[in-house]
Amino acid sequence: MLTKLSLRRSLPLLLGLFALLFSLLLLSIELPLRSSAELHNWRQHSEQTLALLQSSLADHLRQGRSEELQTELADLGSLANVRWAVVIDAEQRIIAATRLGLELTSLTGLSHTDLARHSASTKAHWLAEGGERFLALYPLDRQGSHMLLVSFDFSEQLLLTRHNTWLFIGEVLLLLLTLGLVLNALYHLLVTRRLAAIEQATQRFTHGAQDAHAEISGSDEISQLASSFNLMFEQLQRQQHNLRESQKLLSTLIDTAPIGMMVVDHELRVEQANPAAAKLFSCTPQDLQGNLPQDRLLEGGCWERLIQAPASSNLEFTTLRNGHEIAVEISMTPFQREGERHYLVLLRDISDRKLAEQRLRFLAHFDPLTQLANRHQLQQRLEQLLAAGSRLALLFLDIDHFKRINDIHGHELGDRLLIEIAERLKPLMPPHCLFGRSGGDEFVCLLEGAERGSAETLGEALLAAFKAPFQVRQYHFNITPSIGLTLHGGHPSSASELLKQADLALYAAKDGGRNNMALYSPRLSEATELRQMLEAELRLAIQRDEFELFYQPQVDPTGKPLAMEALLRWHSPNRGLVAPNDFIPVLEDSGLILETTPKIVRMACRQVRQWRLAGLDLRVAINLSPLDFSQDDLAGRLLAILTEEQVSPDWLELEVTESALLSDGPAVRDSLARLKQAGLPLLLDDFGTGYASLTYLQQFHFDGIKIDRQFVADLPDSTQSVALVRGILTMAAQLGVEVIAEGVENERQAAFLLLNGCQRLQGYYYGRPQPALMVNAASQA
Ligand code: C2E
Ligand code: CA
Ligand code: CA
Repeated sequence: MLTKLSLRRSLPLLLGLFALLFSLLLLSIELPLRSSAELHNWRQHSEQTLALLQSSLADHLRQGRSEELQTELADLGSLANVRWAVVIDAEQRIIAATRLGLELTSLTGLSHTDLARHSASTKAHWLAEGGERFLALYPLDRQGSHMLLVSFDFSEQLLLTRHNTWLFIGEVLLLLLTLGLVLNALYHLLVTRRLAAIEQATQRFTHGAQDAHAEISGSDEISQLASSFNLMFEQLQRQQHNLRESQKLLSTLIDTAPIGMMVVDHELRVEQANPAAAKLFSCTPQDLQGNLPQDRLLEGGCWERLIQAPASSNLEFTTLRNGHEIAVEISMTPFQREGERHYLVLLRDISDRKLAEQRLRFLAHFDPLTQLANRHQLQQRLEQLLAAGSRLALLFLDIDHFKRINDIHGHELGDRLLIEIAERLKPLMPPHCLFGRSGGDEFVCLLEGAERGSAETLGEALLAAFKAPFQVRQYHFNITPSIGLTLHGGHPSSASELLKQADLALYAAKDGGRNNMALYSPRLSEATELRQMLEAELRLAIQRDEFELFYQPQVDPTGKPLAMEALLRWHSPNRGLVAPNDFIPVLEDSGLILETTPKIVRMACRQVRQWRLAGLDLRVAINLSPLDFSQDDLAGRLLAILTEEQVSPDWLELEVTESALLSDGPAVRDSLARLKQAGLPLLLDDFGTGYASLTYLQQFHFDGIKIDRQFVADLPDSTQSVALVRGILTMAAQLGVEVIAEGVENERQAAFLLLNGCQRLQGYYYGRPQPALMVNAASQA
């Protein structure tokens, strides 16, 4: 019952009840105890008084002093609690009495015999008369002839005692209640108020307050309870916070997920959908809610299919988005929610993937740039035809110097040009011809059942198609192709063999001066074999140091040599003295040039040092191959040789061809800059043959240019060459770069060049390349 009340109420009630019960208990014990003690005291006191009076009254009787007897009896009667007192004789006659007219038997309630019996005794007797009344019988002599009878009534005294006891109990009760109040106040202060604070904090917490906290000081159990609660609140709040955060994260994830997500109930009605799902159907998530998603799919019965499919398996369907059909992939996973079956539906827009697949299929067989067949398709078709034993012709078409166009105008323009070429050539293809691009600037025609005649006719037509320039943006390109052709007569041969043959024919066409067609013949294979032999011999030559440098002078207008160009020669044990044009391309193709150049530089260094020590004021010009620039740290390696050979950089010159600059990577730029910074003069070789322009001269800080000998050769008769050489000389003068004319073979050429201000000349007219010894001899002479 108490637990139904609050502690604030139940405790005072309990304390009050306790005080009351305690008081009652005390009363039930105290009241009888006190009454009997009081009665006892009074009796004792009365007995003492009576004992004293007994002898004095006996005296009065004996002496017959009835008046004194009367007086003393009256005194006795006036005492508290004494109702009356009489002195009787042996015959029970009243001798003296406190009041007149007292009748003994009616007073005492005793019979005469009883009285006689008592008076016979010499001892005093107290007889209880009922209630708080007593009759005291005191003999006044030994014979028992006289007796004092006193009637006591203690009821008044006892009433007082009871009264006092009640008062006492009342005080106790008051004390207990006061104590209870104090206790209650303390209890309120220490327990109920603090518990209430905890309870309020809990209430606040349950109502979602974030700052729910019970502020309770102390270190007792309640404050410990409070801190435990606070800790619990914090933990719960943290957990709630984390939960909220993760819910937020989850809903953000779902909202931002690129995958469409829907929850549908057992009737397949949408309960929830994320924006991605809505986007798939070009509507809002609200539009989807409560609707049947299958209405939005073009195929019928798709939901049945999804339900029947194993859980989470992906099926493909089509839907309309903004009027366009798109492919969607849908999976359904059942789950229970509030006892009912629901489904998680995942939807993915796979139109991109479909497109990519299509594209991959296309890419597997077509060149994405020109839309022509790719190498793979060509190879496949070739293998099919070979397996069928068909006759066929294979044409390789490569654009001459296409790399330069790429390098100069950029790949984007190069690609545009390739598209233009493909467009122009496509209509020329005869039936049963697969036209493709095998990569880079190489096109392939695979002609089924073709004879030599028809294949060559196609080749001629292709060459003719390049007569007119190609236009891309504002540029007009006069380009030429080289064509390699091979024929297959139906006898067994492999695809790779045929491809190799066409390749060899193409190289032959290029070697033959480009812009032409070459037909494969076994001789070409032989040439390849010869080339391979040459390469092997060159490897040995490097090991055996079979190279020598010849030197050709470059002279000033007075004919005095200023510099010597170091030109490589090979003393081959089989071939005799070989000129560089016959082996340098092989060194370059095989990469052997990278080992050769350092040897050449070292030889040149030793020679220039020797001449310098001999007092000849000559510089030596060294030729670098474009391939040398692909070498890691070319400048560092070359400069290290100079240091080792104790050669000052300004004793040398470096001749670099334009083609080295065309592979314009940061490495070339860095190498040239470092060499130039180290003090090595740089000369641009074969100027005019390529696309080298003023920009190169400025970018790479060349000290001089060498006019290619093809322009010098036609001097002074060709107006074109005259204009060009004059132009170069004027431009160089303005830029402050030196000009060296190469290939000066006669006096007329020399005269023209000198007249136009050329300060340095080189050519057979002044001296052929010759061994260093001959130079020494000449100088000594
Ligand atoms: P280049 O650098 O243009 O060298 C000049 C070539 O023209 C030399 O041919 C030289 O003999 C030749 N020549 C000089 N004056 C005349 C002339 O009046 N008339 C004619 N028709 N030709 C003349 P060479 O020595 O056969 O060298 C051919 C090419 O080989 C050089 O052309 C150069 O590109 C390359 N080469 C030569 N030596 C080296 C070398 O040590 N390293 C590298 N990387 N290339 C070298
Ligand atoms: Ca040169
Ligand atoms: Ca040259």
